[in-house]
Amino acid sequence: MNPPQPPSTRLSLVQGISNRHLRRDQERLLETLLGQLEGMVYRCREDAQWTMEFVSDGCRALTGYRPEDLLLNSRVSYEDITYVDDRARVRAEIQAALRDRRRFELEYRISRADGTVRWVWERGAGIFREDGTLDAIQGFIEDITSWRENEQALRDAEERYRNIVENAVEGIFQTTPQGRYLSINPALARIYGYDKPEEMIGAYLDIGRQLYVDPARRLEFMRLIHLNGVVSNFESEVYRKNGEIIWISENAREVRDGSGNLLYFEGTVEDITERKTYETRLTHQATHDTLTGLPNRALFRDRLQQAVRYAERERAKVSIVFIDLDNFKYINDSLGHEAGDALIRIMAQRLKSCVRDSDTVARLGGDEFVLLLQGAPFDDERVSIAMSRILSEVRKPVDVRGRELTVTCSIGISVCPEDGNDVDALLKHADAAMYQAKQAGRDNFQFFTSSINQRVLDRMDLEHRLRGALERSEFLLHYQPKLDLRSGMVVGTEALIRWRAPQQGLVSPSRFIPLAEETGLIEPIGEWVLETACRQAQLWRERGFRPLTVAVNVSPRQFRDAGLPQLVENILKKTGVTPSMIELEITETCLAHDSEKFIATLKTLKGLGVQIAIDDFGVGYSSMAYLKSFPVDRLKVDQTFAKNLATSEKDRSIYKAIVSLGHNLGLRVVAEGVETSEQYYLLRDIGCDEVQGFFFSMPVPADDFERLIQN
Ligand code: C2E
Ligand code: MG
Ligand code: MG
Repeated sequence: MNPPQPPSTRLSLVQGISNRHLRRDQERLLETLLGQLEGMVYRCREDAQWTMEFVSDGCRALTGYRPEDLLLNSRVSYEDITYVDDRARVRAEIQAALRDRRRFELEYRISRADGTVRWVWERGAGIFREDGTLDAIQGFIEDITSWRENEQALRDAEERYRNIVENAVEGIFQTTPQGRYLSINPALARIYGYDKPEEMIGAYLDIGRQLYVDPARRLEFMRLIHLNGVVSNFESEVYRKNGEIIWISENAREVRDGSGNLLYFEGTVEDITERKTYETRLTHQATHDTLTGLPNRALFRDRLQQAVRYAERERAKVSIVFIDLDNFKYINDSLGHEAGDALIRIMAQRLKSCVRDSDTVARLGGDEFVLLLQGAPFDDERVSIAMSRILSEVRKPVDVRGRELTVTCSIGISVCPEDGNDVDALLKHADAAMYQAKQAGRDNFQFFTSSINQRVLDRMDLEHRLRGALERSEFLLHYQPKLDLRSGMVVGTEALIRWRAPQQGLVSPSRFIPLAEETGLIEPIGEWVLETACRQAQLWRERGFRPLTVAVNVSPRQFRDAGLPQLVENILKKTGVTPSMIELEITETCLAHDSEKFIATLKTLKGLGVQIAIDDFGVGYSSMAYLKSFPVDRLKVDQTFAKNLATSEKDRSIYKAIVSLGHNLGLRVVAEGVETSEQYYLLRDIGCDEVQGFFFSMPVPADDFERLIQN
């Protein structure tokens, strides 16, 4: 039997030391050593309380109790300290080890004096007597809570990381330096169209070298990663398992060990197909014309820029062909925008059919197209042949919304390097040549020349000065009398505009009216003319002059403006003039394409009480059939017919025919450009009603005109 040992904090393990002093020293040393241990050394009995025979000072830190609190017959037992849920397991494990005479090692929780629960690790063994019975258990217990917490944190981090990889939208991979997949996440498999990552593991990075649509991309990828160790945002088209093509963006890097040996590659793959399609659509939208699908101005400029650089390097030629449809505005205005759009689309097709695939056909906007001809050597003659083809192709009748139309175009050509070697100059010069083609009667082409350039510069200058002329009150009206052939009396006058341009003197309307027409400036100018003429007519009436008709020229553009009748009505009201005193002169070109609309406008104007004259009659439309349906009052026969009246029998016959045509339709016929008395008498004999011309008077200022009729 072993009597219970007295309670002691003294180490009683040290045995067989006889010298008391020596024994004391050794005990102290041991005590110090044990005191420095982070943990508790113990010796206990294997009873229900784990009754402690010895505990080291580490007890305080570990359990929060003083050592003596734990020793025999004290208030707490180690069984109490053991966390309640773990007690049974601790006992079972220790007993099992003792049975087998094994050392034991276990982890469990304890409840400290302050109530906190800590994880501990205990290592121990039984001490057996010679007869084999258990004497006591000795061991060491240390707090491993923080270590376990770290461990857990690490495990959690790992778990989270795995989750991230598993659930990532991006594909993530590791491969051997040879490109064989080591591990991949489900997203990567999904991106490449495989059901499971396992299907791909072991396969080569480019799945049998078939991944990249463009094999050169794979080589580039390898080149980059070997060169830099990393590849970033590497975009390429790849095949999925089912053959579908997608866009991916890859990031990859080498992973090396401490001595610099390449271990593996790792990286990510992102499916960017959606973004790419969107981008492609955006770029297409930004660089193409929506109506025709042709390249737009921006893209054209870009291609021209490249072509010019190429031409410089290779001493090649590039031709820029500017094409503008003739009278397109009339079609748009009279048939509507949809018809205009349809026509533009058809013309775009035709132009494309006229050039090689390598040439560019672009639409600059409106009815303006431009071609870029390059490649095979060509000279002016070949270009001319191509242009004639375009002219005849465009001229072919088109069916637009059930109407057959014939459209022509005007073409201007500039050639690099002769006519310039920058984009702006070449475009500007082709445009200038096109303008020249318009001036030359449309439906033709012109090569750019320096004289064209001068004309264009002059015109730009004129336009610039014309813009401010109205505000600067540089316009005035001259009046040319119109005589009744039978009575010889002045029965009317035509108001003719004059421009007193600074440093230029009087500019003839034939110089600036067409430009005003083209630029739209004719609208405000025309309004000013009409109002000034009406005011003048009213003034003359108030001053008691004989009744006179004052004729005002209305340009085609003004006439096509839907607001014209309203404008005329307003001005009539505003000036108080008697409507029948005002005559509007329109030319046949106003007719344009839509005679129904034309007649409707004429009727509205007539309804206001004004008179209508057809000006320059005989030189516009050759068909006279339309005349019968026009509500007009006068025909003003063009000057050219009066010119040779005295010398040519044929011209006299023509004049006679026109006069009788007019009379048969109930119209008065006016002769323009009468310069001699001979012409005057001939016209009287022919039966003409009124005359106007230098023979009687030039167009003169209003004061002079008054004096003229007073005499
Ligand atoms: P138009 O309406 O046919 O006007 C007649 C033109 O012939 C006038 O030229 C006039 O000065 C000229 N003329 C008159 N008698 C004779 C003659 O015996 N011999 C010759 N050789 N010429 C004669 P002008 O004033 O230079 O006007 C030219 C054209 O400009 C006009 O032709 C008309 O179409 C246009 N125009 C003039 N004023 C206006 C205007 O206020 N508005 C619009 N839209 N056009 C105008
Ligand atoms: Mg006139
Ligand atoms: Mg005329």
